[in-house]
Amino acid sequence: MGFGGPHAAFFAVTQKLQRKMPGRLVGVSKDRLGNQALRLALQTREQHIKREKATSNICTAQALLANIVANYAVYHGVDGLRNISRKVFGSTSILAGEILANSKHEILNKTWFDTLSVKLSGETSDSFLEKAVSQFGINIFKVDESTVQLSLDETVTKEDLSALVELFTGEKKEINTDDLPEFPEEWTRKDSILTNPVFNKYHSETAMLRYLYSLQQKDISLATSMIPLGSCTMKLNATTEMIPITWPEFANLHPFAPRDQAQGYLELITELEQDLAEITGFAKTTLMPNSGAQGEYTGLSVIRQYLEHKGETSRNIVLIPVSAHGTNPASAAMAGLKVVPVKCLSNGNLDLADLKVKVEKHAENLAAIMITYPSTYGLFEPTIRTAVELVHTAGGQVYMDGANMNAQVGLTSPGDLGADVCHLNLHKTFAIPHGGGGPGVGPICVAEHLKDFLPKHPVAETTNASIETAINPVSAAPFGSASVLPISYAYIKMLGGNNFPYASVMAILNANYMITVLMNSLLT
Ligand SMILES: *Cc1c(COP(=O)(O)O)cnc(C)c1O
Repeated sequence: MGFGGPHAAFFAVTQKLQRKMPGRLVGVSKDRLGNQALRLALQTREQHIKREKATSNICTAQALLANIVANYAVYHGVDGLRNISRKVFGSTSILAGEILANSKHEILNKTWFDTLSVKLSGETSDSFLEKAVSQFGINIFKVDESTVQLSLDETVTKEDLSALVELFTGEKKEINTDDLPEFPEEWTRKDSILTNPVFNKYHSETAMLRYLYSLQQKDISLATSMIPLGSCTMKLNATTEMIPITWPEFANLHPFAPRDQAQGYLELITELEQDLAEITGFAKTTLMPNSGAQGEYTGLSVIRQYLEHKGETSRNIVLIPVSAHGTNPASAAMAGLKVVPVKCLSNGNLDLADLKVKVEKHAENLAAIMITYPSTYGLFEPTIRTAVELVHTAGGQVYMDGANMNAQVGLTSPGDLGADVCHLNLHKTFAIPHGGGGPGVGPICVAEHLKDFLPKHPVAETTNASIETAINPVSAAPFGSASVLPISYAYIKMLGGNNFPYASVMAILNANYMITVLMNSLLT
């Protein structure tokens, strides 16, 4: 549960719609020699080609978690999964039967698999929840003043079930789980599923371990090599940073757990939010977005809400240099903005003359510029301050894509440069491993005038829960992928403020060394 994330979700479509799906689609094909081969049929990078016409802005997703889920199915196989389902349905049915037979409470859902919605009789939800925690150590979800809800899974033991029965009926009772109610015949799937041999091979722990290890050996990782990505620099994922996310205190907390049970998380989150605000030179941070691109969407939504609040509803144009990462135009389109591209010079720098023309032409409707610094070519735009000033003078906001923050940390900051909002990629600059494409964390930091527009959450308390102007949540979890935050927290605390400039200077020095060596080898 990880206090809300990271988490993977899936959707499936009919064949007719599959080309419209966002993300990666792997197809089975044949290689040159006629062997079976897997091929990326559709991939996320489409946004670099289609720009604002892409079907999604997703770049970093939940690849690691998708693999965990897939391997859960590999390990258990069809029979194992069916047994898990039977156990879940059976336990839920026993509890439902006890509630119906031995209490005055009403179960609102007439059918169930794992979830019961219970209308309480003779007590309020609050007193019921209090009793559940203090007497049984169980958290239950409050739907409203007289309705509570709970879901059971395969980890629910006989003792847990007895405790739940006692909680709902007031009766201490030995529950027999050997003879579970049968899963209804009419709901049972008859066709064969998971027919790929992989789901029928690795059902012992050793077999599973060997299978995973053989897959792992096919990949390049920090254990074998550096990770040669482009402008978005990947940091070392130190063991000391990684171990804490396996601690049950971080791994097993529900995102809506009562706040007095989450003091450690909340302290870590508050400190991290403050550290990131300080690093970016801004007033406030939200950790809700799960990736850089989701941060872009959030930042642009915050800008839209701010402009709307000021009564400037006609401002709907966002300027984006052609050198920008593909997620920028895709996110702008998702946030309901119109993209106007700005040219770049032959050396990759922003074409200031073209920017002037575009700003003047769209001054009335200008919402923002999205600018990457250093640019996607790895260059510090020499005209950055002029560009910021031009956009501000026309009444637009400056969104800084902070994916390349690696070159700024401790030396300069988006705030110093005059920007209004930026996102960070904690899975690039702040040591979270990229997990073959995710999970990620894409917090946004904003200047003072935008802080009351950061997202709120309807159920869980966040740092700006009660602010009326706040935008709607961009993630179902109040703090996004909370359980990987200890990695960035540890990275920041272990490096310490004084060493940040050193890390950035070393990165810049290394890049300049490389370019000098390459240039010299071209010349000779
Ligand atoms: C990585 C990156 C993004 C997108 O971040 P995700 O976390 O992959 O969504 C945006 N802009 C730039 C410049 C990047 O390098």
